[in-house]
Amino acid sequence: MLKVKEAVKEFNGFRAVNRCSIDVPANKITGLIGPNGAGKTTLFNLISGGLTLDTGEVWFNQERIDQLPAHKIVHKGLYRTFQIPRALEKMTTIENLMLVPANQLGEKIWNSWFRNKQVKAEEQKIKARAEEVLGFLELTHVKYELAGNLSVGQKKLLELGRALMSDPDMILLDEPAAGVNPTLMKKIAENIRKLQQQGKTFLLIEHNMDLIMDICDKVIVMNNGEHLIEGTPQEVRNNKEVLEAYLGV
Ligand code: ADP
Repeated sequence: MLKVKEAVKEFNGFRAVNRCSIDVPANKITGLIGPNGAGKTTLFNLISGGLTLDTGEVWFNQERIDQLPAHKIVHKGLYRTFQIPRALEKMTTIENLMLVPANQLGEKIWNSWFRNKQVKAEEQKIKARAEEVLGFLELTHVKYELAGNLSVGQKKLLELGRALMSDPDMILLDEPAAGVNPTLMKKIAENIRKLQQQGKTFLLIEHNMDLIMDICDKVIVMNNGEHLIEGTPQEVRNNKEVLEAYLGV
């Protein structure tokens, strides 16, 4: 579904991503792991249009997307999660969700947001979708809570919720378990699996090996900007090169 071919990205002559190719199958959960500085975040940014490639290609659903701006990539059905930005922490949980499609509808809608009947109808639709997403993620009880007051795990669920608002085919998830307590981590894992069963595709950066082992169908390991190896979680965990990359032995 997603193919990265020989991606290269340099920062001031330093190769953060070095001829890296990956292949992410549809309707599966794929993990992207590797030591700090391996190039995972840079690769995510190259895929989602936050950064441009020096050389290489990115293909999504048989279409080349590496020349497209980030918002067009979202329109193609590929969404990358981000930490809730500071400004949005001052808004409620439901407002955070409702802003996603509103942004996507573009400036025209914003200009006439409270004027036009059609826009009101659109707003009702967006609100209904936001309520549905809150229900799915079991966040309804914090719907009017400011996002800044949510726990780390609830914020991670909200990030996932923001992704769901645009109903993407594929979600790039950035460390869904980072700083999350075990109970909420279980919930996040369950949600990812449920969404996969509904047909969504995931690529996730994650340091928590328990989560990787638990939910991933396939794991890709990066090191020094390169694709090191890939396999099932079990294959990867037992691989000598992976242990060397992590432990530096
Ligand atoms: P990971 O997500 O695997 O920890 P990153 O993609 O964040 O790795 O970083 C890969 C390398 O690229 C690191 O050495 C990092 O310092 C460097 N790097 C990332 N972004 C930039 C940038 N904007 N400018 C300079 N160097 C960067």
